[in-house]
Amino acid sequence: MVWFKEEIPRCSFITWMAMLSRLPTRDRLASWGLAVPLQCVLCSTEFESHPHLFFGCPYVGAVWSRFCGHVIASPPLSFQEAAVILSNHQVVSSASLLAVIKLLLQCIIYCVWRERNSRIFRRESSSEAAVAARVDRLVRDRLISIPPPSDAAPSPLLVYFRIPPPDP
Ligand SMILES: [Zn+2]
Repeated sequence: MVWFKEEIPRCSFITWMAMLSRLPTRDRLASWGLAVPLQCVLCSTEFESHPHLFFGCPYVGAVWSRFCGHVIASPPLSFQEAAVILSNHQVVSSASLLAVIKLLLQCIIYCVWRERNSRIFRRESSSEAAVAARVDRLVRDRLISIPPPSDAAPSPLLVYFRIPPPDP
């Protein structure tokens, strides 16, 4: 789910840390005794924690939704749900499709974490559409160099293009 041939190492690393709940989210900083605001900087309505920041937050749901419809019906609400989506596809789908789903997962996690940091440390914020466009660019740039797994199979990039691209 995290470490695979088509991965982007920096995205795999952040996703791995997120799965282990090891990123310095505000709930963790507070539990270490730091006086930090607890609110999520993306939605300003709930406390920031790993499950909220990467799955529960409506902002993240909006980013996810832009990639849903073709292979993923609706945004996963946890890493467990993402794993279920992957294992359901494992039996019936091509290697290319699995790679695309795993890449989307790690690029969304990575871009959401960067957006959160940019809001906190640089006071710069982007819309859900802008973050989705960053995810889209990362995925395309990675997939463009990956050949089809066999002569008969479509390349991961072709598979990805069947996912509706994010709206401009
Ligand atoms: Zn939020």
